[in-house]
Amino acid sequence: MRTIHNIINGQEVAVGSRRTAPIMNPATGEQVASVGLSGAEDIAAAVAAAVAAYPQWAATPPLNRARAMFRFKELLDANAESLARTIATEHGKTHADALGEVTRGIEVVEFACGIPHLLKGSFTRNVSSGIDAYSDRQPLGVVAGITPFNFPAMVPLWMFPVALACGNSFILKPSEKDPSTANQLHALAADAGFPDGVFNIVHGAREAVDALMAHPDVRAISFVGSTPVARHVYATAAANGKRVQALAGAKNHLLVMPDADIELAADALVGAGYGSAGERCMAVSVAVPVGPETADNLVAALKLRVQALKVGPASDPSADMGPLITAAHRDRVTDLIGKGVEEGAELVVDGRGIAMQGFEGGYFLGGTLFDRVTADMTIYREEIFGPVLSVVRANGFDDAVELVNGHETGNGTAIFTRDGESARHFADRIEAGMVGINVPIPVPVAYHSFGGWKTSLFGDHGIYGPEGVHFYTRLKTVTTRWPSGGRTGPEFSFPTLDR
Ligand code: NAD
Repeated sequence: MRTIHNIINGQEVAVGSRRTAPIMNPATGEQVASVGLSGAEDIAAAVAAAVAAYPQWAATPPLNRARAMFRFKELLDANAESLARTIATEHGKTHADALGEVTRGIEVVEFACGIPHLLKGSFTRNVSSGIDAYSDRQPLGVVAGITPFNFPAMVPLWMFPVALACGNSFILKPSEKDPSTANQLHALAADAGFPDGVFNIVHGAREAVDALMAHPDVRAISFVGSTPVARHVYATAAANGKRVQALAGAKNHLLVMPDADIELAADALVGAGYGSAGERCMAVSVAVPVGPETADNLVAALKLRVQALKVGPASDPSADMGPLITAAHRDRVTDLIGKGVEEGAELVVDGRGIAMQGFEGGYFLGGTLFDRVTADMTIYREEIFGPVLSVVRANGFDDAVELVNGHETGNGTAIFTRDGESARHFADRIEAGMVGINVPIPVPVAYHSFGGWKTSLFGDHGIYGPEGVHFYTRLKTVTTRWPSGGRTGPEFSFPTLDR
């Protein structure tokens, strides 16, 4: 069976310990390949390669780095279908959805193509007589990215194009559940002309991550994944003196105001709640209708749509959503649905126990809808990360805002309304990093930046866009004087401008 190896200094390298984990096809439950599990020695080899490649890459003019990025973008476009097939096989999402994430990833590469302009500094002539000053942002050195299973192309593409464009060398540790896409991205980057050692891939799980966080030559860590691991990565890597951004889990709410178009809101909610089987950090998992009449109408409209959802493998172009990532995750979501019933939520549509002819071994779960969920229930508090939408009824706008702000996460949130004043109040008062007004999944475009608030992001930089450039660079300010007026003798007081 095929084994997915590390790529260090442009070469495929088996992990030293030969330890591997299986990679499954979630639609069939069959193993499709194995992946190496790196330990500290494998990580040390990758860091050494990245350290060696860094000086020349950092000294490469930004325009030349941008040219490699342009070639990379062309190759990504040409290979988007093939990338989507790899994603769909190992992740299980539909082909159209996989293609969508590749497209959003390519947009970050397009942003990174503008790096000469993005790295332009500022200059002030004559800050004092005969003295000039300029500031610019310079790369950090070797930086690492640790990514989750749910976007095997897009999330790595949030990181390494910006980091490389800024002049860093990069080590990617993708999810061990669907790691093949990362190697495919590497092959395209190599064809685009990124030099060996500038971009390296290490596979593995916790041990690999711990070794990256412990290595003194890794200057910064970008992490995207679940909240408990993000918290651990942020605390550990920061304690080791590294710059860290750790993007984490979510519970995204969508408010439906009494004046909203219910059919429009229901369409938006099923797409945002059940697309990719709910395995998106920006999935809407809580609908908050304002007022009893809005709630009754919304639940009726949702029920019809959730019952009609088509679950299937990526090979079925008519499927709305695929299986969950692992049997264990499917079982966890199933248990949480049971917990919802136990704690008194009203199960409107039950997606448990669906049979998929020809795919009996797959990790499928049907769309599930709960009504009358309350803020103290487990299914409300926890991120389920599955095709489960909870309706929490709110009496008024203020209650709804209080509910959203009371949740510990603050990734994305949205409001559906025809009233500009409510929309504006919502955008002002809501405690979340990304807000949609009649937009259910407000993932910012590549030239803005992505990032949540509260326990959805540890660290102070969002990812990609201008925040990404900031994260992967550090400020240097140079003050220059070329004396032409002869010596003035030593000066012992603090330098100031004559008044
Ligand atoms: P995860 O936290 O299990 O894994 C993420 C990465 O961390 C993987 O590379 C994994 O190998 C590694 N890892 C796992 N356990 C570890 C440990 N104990 N110590 C060190 N490293 C460890 O997350 P996942 O299940 O792959 O992804 C789903 C989660 O990611 C969801 O919570 C989702 O909301 C979140 N997510 C967040 C964003 C965002 O931008 N905020 C985007 C995508 C996914």
